[in-house]
Amino acid sequence: MMKKADIDEMLRTIEDETRYTRGMTGVPSLRPEVLAAMRQVPREEFVSNFYKTMAYDNTPLPIGNGQTISQPFIVALMTDLLRPDKDKVILEVGTGSGYQAAVLSLLVRQVYTLEIIPALAGVASARLKRLGYTNIEVSRGDGNSGWPEHAPFDGIIVTASAPHVPPVLKEQLKPGGRLVIPVGLTAMPQELLMLEKNDKGEIRTRHVLSVSFVPLTGNGGNDDTRKNNL
Ligand code: SAM
Repeated sequence: MMKKADIDEMLRTIEDETRYTRGMTGVPSLRPEVLAAMRQVPREEFVSNFYKTMAYDNTPLPIGNGQTISQPFIVALMTDLLRPDKDKVILEVGTGSGYQAAVLSLLVRQVYTLEIIPALAGVASARLKRLGYTNIEVSRGDGNSGWPEHAPFDGIIVTASAPHVPPVLKEQLKPGGRLVIPVGLTAMPQELLMLEKNDKGEIRTRHVLSVSFVPLTGNGGNDDTRKNNL
């Protein structure tokens, strides 16, 4: 059962972390609407019974298949960096539990989200339907190729660590759009990057914060042995 005190505490921790890291992230405070979305989405619904008592701790938790639901502070920060608003269409790479997609769905027009592990894609899709999120489309697929049928996107968020920024994702970003992605090899530290495309199509990259994510896999991902032979 969702407890107001637990959620209040999660929100306080997110605001504290935002303040502690502002020198690095350049984000002094999170948009009120992002905090409201974090308050509204029941994180306990996105973890198994075993982890429900920890659902509002500011920590990643296992979701099966060796994957995790991300730390709430990082979810909130990445959401804020996308500058969400009701006109935007966002691509997420790495559906996992569906939690990040649910948070975004309250702030934007449409979320398209790709998950490479079929079992996780199936569970997340059923969960999001059951919880009544109608503007999220989940598909099983390799996010290294983006989602050409729905491109270009106003924003792209990648929730697994890539060896480099997949070029296709840069192409699928609209002018004025932002791409938020952790980059680095599987070993720590990885860097959360924020790329911004201007109206001329030029891309500026900003380092945001050191982070720790599970690897982006698939074609060109951190487990692609061919990349070592190129
Ligand atoms: N956003 C998720 C949530 O809210 O629960 C957490 C994502 S978890 C940290 C990273 C996810 O990315 C895993 O579920 C993993 O299977 C997925 N993933 C890894 N490589 C991928 C790829 N190439 N395409 C799509 N999903 C990928």
